[in-house]
Amino acid sequence: MWFTEQQTKDVRTSCRTKKILHQENTPFQSLAVIDTDQYGRVLVLDNIIQTTIMDEFVYHEMITHVALNTHAAPERVLVIGGGDGGAVREIVKHQSLEKVVHCEIDGAVVDASRKYLPEISCAMDHPKVEIVIDDGIKHVRENKGAYDVIIVDSTDPIGPAEGLFSASFYKDIFNSLKDDGIFVAQTESPFFNRDLIPRLYSDISGIFPLTRLFLAVVPTYPGGLWTFTMGSKKYDPCDTDIVRTPDLNTRYYSPEIHRTCFVLPPFVKELLGR
Ligand code: SAM
Repeated sequence: MWFTEQQTKDVRTSCRTKKILHQENTPFQSLAVIDTDQYGRVLVLDNIIQTTIMDEFVYHEMITHVALNTHAAPERVLVIGGGDGGAVREIVKHQSLEKVVHCEIDGAVVDASRKYLPEISCAMDHPKVEIVIDDGIKHVRENKGAYDVIIVDSTDPIGPAEGLFSASFYKDIFNSLKDDGIFVAQTESPFFNRDLIPRLYSDISGIFPLTRLFLAVVPTYPGGLWTFTMGSKKYDPCDTDIVRTPDLNTRYYSPEIHRTCFVLPPFVKELLGR
């Protein structure tokens, strides 16, 4: 039995599946958890791989620690999306944290991740974590000046996540951050999303005084190389004193990676008009 993901209109990738552990249609999307030899257990939404036991650490460490270590002392953090709980697991490692609000639109993703992906969802019951089942767009609109760091760990820009890639949402994020706040979003593949990335970068640059794009390698995402875009009101991640960063027991993120993930190859710089 093979699972096949349609990555672009002309590209499909497949992996052999040992077992389908769970399958349902939620009010928002189709949801499956499958078990595979190559990737281990895999969370699939609308037939697109969201996270796998093999490489989830790369994505979750990079979408959290780069921004959190850039901020002087993040106390209140918001995660939008991220129903598997991987971002939250990394955020609770930070000593300065007082509270992380995890706003996921689809409670079924949270439930399935608790049951089938305990390695990823293991911090959901941490005392500093509050899970809110709601639309992230609505949540930022209703919470002004509330957060030090906002992390947008979304599905691709279709369906319920479409609005998470819009300029009006980035403006609401800006207003939901404190005066020295930072926001970071997963911004897709520099190979396959060459129209989307320049638009997002330009929208974010029009709202935040400082915009930075960084890279990581996530083998199960289309193209492997993945982008994250950060908008910051005050702190520059390239000025982070990496000697001061605490040991977070990570497998991909490190002080050296913090510094080098902003080094962009020319074909990525091109996307940013540099
Ligand atoms: N790491 C993944 C990736 O890049 O493919 C994303 C993982 S996470 C499972 C994405 C989550 O975003 C999904 O669980 C989805 O339900 C959630 N989501 C989509 N739109 C949302 C919205 N408007 N508000 C809050 N959560 C949303």
